[in-house]
Amino acid sequence: MVARYAPREPIPPARVAAFRSFGSQMFHVEQIPRTEGVMSDQEDEDPTRAVEREDRTPGRRVGPGTPDLSIGALIEVRETGARAPRPLPRVIAVANQKGGVGKTTTTVNLGAALADLGYRVLIIDLDPQGNATTGLGIEARNFDYSMYDVLLHDIALEDCVEPTNIKNLFLAPATIDLAGAEIELVPAFSRELRLKRMLAPIREDFGFVLIDCPPSLGLITVNALSAASEVLVPIQCEYYALEGVGQLLRNVELVRGNLNPELEVSAIVLTMYDSRTRLADHVVAEVRKHFGDAVCKNVIPRTVRISESPSFGEPITVHSPTSRGAIAYRELAKEVSRGPA
Ligand code: ADP
Ligand code: MG
Repeated sequence: MVARYAPREPIPPARVAAFRSFGSQMFHVEQIPRTEGVMSDQEDEDPTRAVEREDRTPGRRVGPGTPDLSIGALIEVRETGARAPRPLPRVIAVANQKGGVGKTTTTVNLGAALADLGYRVLIIDLDPQGNATTGLGIEARNFDYSMYDVLLHDIALEDCVEPTNIKNLFLAPATIDLAGAEIELVPAFSRELRLKRMLAPIREDFGFVLIDCPPSLGLITVNALSAASEVLVPIQCEYYALEGVGQLLRNVELVRGNLNPELEVSAIVLTMYDSRTRLADHVVAEVRKHFGDAVCKNVIPRTVRISESPSFGEPITVHSPTSRGAIAYRELAKEVSRGPA
């Protein structure tokens, strides 16, 4: 049977990078300077958000203090300090158990930007809220199968994949049914490896597979981490930016030790950066200090256009192709796919 996303063009293999371990640095931020909320000339900023932040108490911890975890082996950087291409296909879980940090936004927009670069991209929506699905303009009434059917009822992933309005970009959609999967998977046979098994037959059809994880570290996220070779962690440039990241990294380590030895945290993406606040710069500096070259050079700005694009069912690259947000995601796609632009 010919898949609905056929035909495919061959994707050239990329070089394998040489990596060294990151060292066991910890994140620890005590004082956050109060923002002065200086307005800049940016055309599509949302002033209300900055005001909200200014009202918060300064001097709080951004991170979880000194988590009891060695992240040395989890975050790998190249010896040269620059990123290098990795072999395709790359299966990247976009994970952070905090909600609202930009996982879905990054999955959809990075996916669209990678597709624009010519890669065949599959986005797997693993969040029962289905925001990646609706954000790409795909409605539940228009598809037969969702990721719930794939994970629980052995429906072939190929039969679940839908084309999108963007060339080269495909989606395995999610609906609210997936909320039940977290519990229904508990007694299932090889419950952690379902996604990996279902992805295997079509993995090679794509250059990139991006998995949008739910805001939890339950079985669905474990399935994503087991199926992936890389984890991309979006971190919001906000108070408590690193809260929970230690726990996520511990889970990555557990999955790596028990289920998926090749898993590594390959990219940390700073999202919703607001240049009007000193807080944002401070968070960026702290995250870079502690995670080094694993942090992507391109930081995603907070813009109104990015936040409104899902309601049009379009990635930012389609909704507002010349906006700062679209440029940022396009640059991020270049950085993630083949090193610095
Ligand atoms: P998550 O998937 O981690 O829960 P989302 O990607 O859904 O987070 O983002 C949370 C909210 O923030 C959404 O309403 C989204 O539109 C908005 N948002 C995300 N990134 C940006 C950005 N760069 N600029 C403005 N709004 C953003
Ligand atoms: Mg989401």
